[in-house]
Amino acid sequence: MLNFDYRRPESLDEALSLRKEWGGKSSLLMGGTDLFLAIEEEVRRPELLIDLKKIRALSGLEEKDGAVHIGAAVTYSELIHSDLVHQKLPGIWESSRLVASVGIRNSATMVGNICNAVPSAESATPLMIRDAVIHITSASGSRSVPAVEFFTGPRRTVVKDDEIVTSISVPLMKGKFGESYVKLGRYRGEDIAQVATAVLVDENWNYRIAYGAVGPVPMGIPGAEAVLKGKKPAADLIEKAKSEVLNTVSPIGDIRASKEYRLHMCAVMFEKAIDAAVSRMETGAPAYGARLI
Ligand SMILES: Cc1cc2nc3c(=O)[nH]c(=O)nc-3n(C[C@H](O)[C@H](O)[C@H](O)COP(=O)(O)OP(=O)(O)OC[C@H]3O[C@@H](n4cnc5c(N)ncnc54)[C@H](O)[C@@H]3O)c2cc1C
Repeated sequence: MLNFDYRRPESLDEALSLRKEWGGKSSLLMGGTDLFLAIEEEVRRPELLIDLKKIRALSGLEEKDGAVHIGAAVTYSELIHSDLVHQKLPGIWESSRLVASVGIRNSATMVGNICNAVPSAESATPLMIRDAVIHITSASGSRSVPAVEFFTGPRRTVVKDDEIVTSISVPLMKGKFGESYVKLGRYRGEDIAQVATAVLVDENWNYRIAYGAVGPVPMGIPGAEAVLKGKKPAADLIEKAKSEVLNTVSPIGDIRASKEYRLHMCAVMFEKAIDAAVSRMETGAPAYGARLI
């Protein structure tokens, strides 16, 4: 039988002292869209649930000091309805629209998504390509970890048992840029990614490329970024960069897709994602949110 205590602190300090006292026996609750399933399936057996939703300090969404700051309690619906996110973080806006369905997005948070840390987590790669930073606090101090260093294994992150993620900062881009997020699901609608590709290109032809669902953690593809660096992508460069992608990813076969299909789609989606990001930078089209696959 499921049996646990439940607390809903109204201040971060109160939550942090509960976290310090209960450590690994506690689980942090945001929207609960991942956590309740994990509890039901007995993957997680917390003795205490610390519900963070009432903590006002975690609910901010604002631009400040050259970055957009996303509080841990901000839901996907809030992100999608934010003009700030749409204009300044279009790749994050695009990917957020592809998470689950409206009902789930009304309670699911981006911080819950990355803390759950499945390899297909929708927000992981769009945050990685924007050099986002994750802010983490405990009763004894705070630290900030780049998104590229946050994931340590399937369902594992750098967050320790006495810590809480408080927010994510995404630096603003200077000059022109284009982004794209391409998600391959088995069907339209509520399905997690079989393969996901995120691309960022800036006006000096610097690229950031990341893949989700094709390895134990979401991964950047520095080899492909290096091949394309400083150049407008031509067919021969795309082929070389694609080889770097295929040499870096390590997909498995599971109920969603075979290993071979995932590898094939990594290559197909690479071209689509690069095309869309470059075209958006140069012409503004296709609009963010348009179907790319
Ligand atoms: C039907 C359905 C469809 C879905 N579709 C998608 C999809 O398309 N794409 C996708 O990526 N995901 C999908 N998900 C998964 C889920 O909705 C997301 O991962 C969601 O963003 C999790 O956020 P949450 O606020 O509900 O987190 P919760 O379930 O509350 O928490 C998730 C994990 O993060 C931890 N956590 C929460 N907040 C913090 C914090 N502040 N600090 C440290 N740890 C914390 C929790 O302890 C827990 O381990 C789907 C889920 C369902 C049920």
